[in-house]
Amino acid sequence: MSPSVDQTELLTSLKTYFGYDSFRSNQQEIIETVLSGNDAIVIMPTGGGKSICYQLPAMHFKGLTLVISPLIALMKDQVDGLNANGIKADFYNSSQQAEDQQEILAKAANGELKLLYVAPESLSGLSPLLTENYISCIAIDEAHCISSWGHDFRPSYQQLGFLKKSLPTVPVIALTATADKATRQDIAEQLNITHARQFISSFDRKNITLEVRAADKRLDQIKKFLAKRPNTSGIIYCLSRKTTETVAQSLKNKGIKAESYHAGLSFEERTRVQEDFIYDKIQVVCATVAFGMGIDKSNVRWVIHYNMPKNLEGYYQEIGRAGRDGLDAHALLFHTYADVIQLRRFTQGAANEEVQNAKLDRMKQYTEALTCRRKILLSYFGEFLEKDCGNCDVCKNPPQFFDGTILAQKALSTIARVKNSEPIGVIIDILRGAKNAMIIDKGLEEVKTFGIGKDTSWKDWQHYVLQLINQGYCEIAFHLNNALHLTPSSKEVLFNGKKVLLTHPTEAIQPEPAVAKEPKIKKGNDLFEKLRQLRAEIAKEEDIPAYLVFSDATLKEMERVRPMSEMELLEISGVGQRKLEVYGDAFIDAILEFQAAKIKKKGSKTATHQVTYQLLKDGLSIEEISRKRDLKDTTVYSHLAKLALDGEDIDLYRFVNADEVNQIKKASKDLENPDSLKAYFEHFEEKIPYYKIRLGLTAIELENKN
Ligand code: ADP
Ligand code: ZN
Repeated sequence: MSPSVDQTELLTSLKTYFGYDSFRSNQQEIIETVLSGNDAIVIMPTGGGKSICYQLPAMHFKGLTLVISPLIALMKDQVDGLNANGIKADFYNSSQQAEDQQEILAKAANGELKLLYVAPESLSGLSPLLTENYISCIAIDEAHCISSWGHDFRPSYQQLGFLKKSLPTVPVIALTATADKATRQDIAEQLNITHARQFISSFDRKNITLEVRAADKRLDQIKKFLAKRPNTSGIIYCLSRKTTETVAQSLKNKGIKAESYHAGLSFEERTRVQEDFIYDKIQVVCATVAFGMGIDKSNVRWVIHYNMPKNLEGYYQEIGRAGRDGLDAHALLFHTYADVIQLRRFTQGAANEEVQNAKLDRMKQYTEALTCRRKILLSYFGEFLEKDCGNCDVCKNPPQFFDGTILAQKALSTIARVKNSEPIGVIIDILRGAKNAMIIDKGLEEVKTFGIGKDTSWKDWQHYVLQLINQGYCEIAFHLNNALHLTPSSKEVLFNGKKVLLTHPTEAIQPEPAVAKEPKIKKGNDLFEKLRQLRAEIAKEEDIPAYLVFSDATLKEMERVRPMSEMELLEISGVGQRKLEVYGDAFIDAILEFQAAKIKKKGSKTATHQVTYQLLKDGLSIEEISRKRDLKDTTVYSHLAKLALDGEDIDLYRFVNADEVNQIKKASKDLENPDSLKAYFEHFEEKIPYYKIRLGLTAIELENKN
């Protein structure tokens, strides 16, 4: 039953169908496992490349690969993506008319499909197909939905165990981005694949820059952040519906295409926002956590957390939606104690309050980290990074410690003077000697430490007090109106002169390297922008999302390499056989046109000899130019002749020597037909090649002119 496919064939398929040159970690072993008829459990982070693990084997199996997927809304997207790669795939679910369903069943039965996506609820409709005759492989996507341990339990997944029982020889591949062991075990047991090989990939998404900032003037910070990233897609996660709306409105006022997305919208509205985002009609979605599950949009460039998430699992999933294409992406989180307090309120009285609070504490530790954030994040998922990542704000801008003992004493003695009764804001007001109504009402100007910290700004005080909390010198009593309390360690500082090390508030990471390189070029003038527009036009015509035509990563590589022939285009990662055939010409033309326009700024028509000139100036040899442009050498030489006649600075004597030019000059006087290159060629008994004759004649013509 299992096809035998060697490594070369696998790599050829990878290139032909998906346009990629090499496998990412684990992909090849997973594919080989499945192709040899064995079951597999695949744990990979979001964006890790799970789909290929069953899509590529599907191309080698004789029969159908059935893909169980929970999200009807996203099946079409997946199928469109496969079709764009020339792979025969379809989906079957309850959103379709009965006739369409029949048609799809018939296609599948006739072997006209390689992959069929189906929601678990709709599986029963496929029962005539569910035999080993038709089905070669079963892929179960988002497999954690089977487990009630997991965060996204779906009852319809629990019946999937019957598949292995009724089709015992068909390999099952279960895939998920949920890492914990209990869930993994549950998946294996419930699917009846306890012997399946488990493949657990690293959860490190190196291309995502991690950054945490203090939350003051969040909206202004976001606007600045966006101004540096024009035309880039991103998601802003907020805690409340209302915030999503305010943030979206505020961005709209700035002319940014932003929409809000939350559970209070109708199903139609939510679908529209999601589609518009996928189709790049909306640039920014301000969403509650409900948004983004299963969204495969590969060019989400950044994710902002306007509010702090409740735990690191959720946070990691959400930021994982950025940079699936492997290009640089940015995850920015705003941190404020107000959020911690709010989140605490949510957990109060919950059945598993303790667990939730413990998770919230880990989240808090992450946001307050003074060491590499990625290390902290990955350690949460049981992974240990040997070196600091170099791609988080702490690594890029390591905190500088100073002796903050006096500051600590001032703050802690203020807490002592008000007898542990006031929250952080009031403590800072007292330190700063603020005379606001509340201070006066409560008679707090009488506190002995009133105004002893007025030289330090409010914001800096906040930064210092938070560090005191993190270092355990004081704590927030969440059950007592969030009043700050002293701890046993406070005494050490207040009475025994224990030294306290604090850090200065740091500025936001600047400038972001990946982006800093780009925006200098104005919109519309650079090749990437041009290719992006072309992609948008094609996507519109075909009614598919732009990133399904080519990913951002692929366009970036085109911009860098500037392929000008089919052969070169095929070398770009992400260009497979079908895409080459269907889109190749348009992209090559766009690149040629761009090269031509680069020199002939005013003229819009492509002048092929000008393209050659540009490449020559870029330092390419004639052979390289002809290869790059898929032209004959002689054509390129004829471009040189034309350029020389046009008055461009071309040294023809680089290609034809003075002696040869003299011979040609002599011949021109003797020949009967001095306009025919062939006549010269024969005259010289084929010893001087055509191109030299042409260039020689050009040199002579130029001399006569001058
Ligand atoms: P997941 O399902 O694990 O979240 P996907 O399967 O959607 O991830 O893959 C994420 C992105 O990575 C997609 O754009 C996909 O085309 C790309 N990708 C997958 N495998 C490779 C590879 N071997 N080389 C380059 N890109 C890849
Ligand atoms: Zn780091």
